[in-house]
Amino acid sequence: MAIIHRLSPRLANQIAAGEVVERPASVAKEVLENSLDAGATRIDIDIEAGGSRLIRIRDNGVGIGSDDMPLALARHATSKIASLEDLERVGSLGFRGEALASIGSVSRLTLTSNNREEGSEGCSALTEGREMDVQLRPAPHPRGTTVEVRDLFFNTPARRKFLRTEKTEFNHLEEVVKRLALSRFGVGFSLRHNGRVIHNLKGAETTAEQQRRVAAICGPAFMEQAIHIDSDRSDMRLWGWVALPTFSRSQADLQYFFVNGRVIRDKLVAHAVKQAYRDVLYHGRHPAFVLYLELDPAQVDVNVHPGKHEVRFRDSRAVHQCIFSTLHRALADVRPAPAAEALA
Ligand code: ADP
Ligand code: MG
Repeated sequence: MAIIHRLSPRLANQIAAGEVVERPASVAKEVLENSLDAGATRIDIDIEAGGSRLIRIRDNGVGIGSDDMPLALARHATSKIASLEDLERVGSLGFRGEALASIGSVSRLTLTSNNREEGSEGCSALTEGREMDVQLRPAPHPRGTTVEVRDLFFNTPARRKFLRTEKTEFNHLEEVVKRLALSRFGVGFSLRHNGRVIHNLKGAETTAEQQRRVAAICGPAFMEQAIHIDSDRSDMRLWGWVALPTFSRSQADLQYFFVNGRVIRDKLVAHAVKQAYRDVLYHGRHPAFVLYLELDPAQVDVNVHPGKHEVRFRDSRAVHQCIFSTLHRALADVRPAPAAEALA
């Protein structure tokens, strides 16, 4: 008797959701990344009860046509890559075609979108954690997309049990919004929690406006003690702000590193920064920075982890060297002068 059977699409999606949908913050990350990939210049985020009751994200991006709506919610369906070559130099934040299917399998998800001009009507699809035979309904919506995720994990109680307090969940979610707001200065963001405005960030174009956004997110004290750096080499550019040692932290909580507009956490990067600060920071203190590395997408592999916050650099030595030498130089003025005998 055969004992192997295919998983139902719903169960397969719920298993996939286990990888990327850990908590409300991870839902927000995936949905916001879609808005950025859609070229939105304005994103409004409404949260209730830390995100476990409601996450509503509305953008003014390119929108989704009604023909594409069912596929947008299906697993392994994406508009972002079509071939292995595309994957090897992917420029979008998403490419796995799994997020909406995963989120839809563990929540009551409504997708409403319109990809046409002013005056046209959009359409709406609701999944309710069911099989993906999506019902489409006409719905008014300006050009762009609204994703509404209600009652996250309502049908997976084991997952729901792992949610922390409303405050903790909201803090994680706010952190996601901060990172993405730092990654795209040109995009306006608003964030409301239980009806209260937490952030309202207008699109920032000039350096002064960018600095205002960094100050709004990292605190004015960071900006006051930050050095602006910009090192443009032929193969890569590193720019951003690094705090003077006088603004060191007891935790590594103000460290933002972006590679080609993607938020990443990386040991190699952390090591290069730490080395650069080595002789100016007391033991146990952590530097604060907001840094942007730009290089040819073919030089970075982003398909390392489903969460996509890890990357692999083709030439990791060159990246380490670029970060270390740029920061080391920037901190030269605050580094204690070597003793005379050491120079002799
Ligand atoms: P991926 O982002 O990896 O392609 P998703 O499941 O996140 O997979 O989204 C599936 C598809 O739905 C996307 O490829 C895109 O075409 C469409 N989509 C999702 N969100 C939006 C949005 N906010 N605006 C326009 N299109 C969207
Ligand atoms: Mg996506």
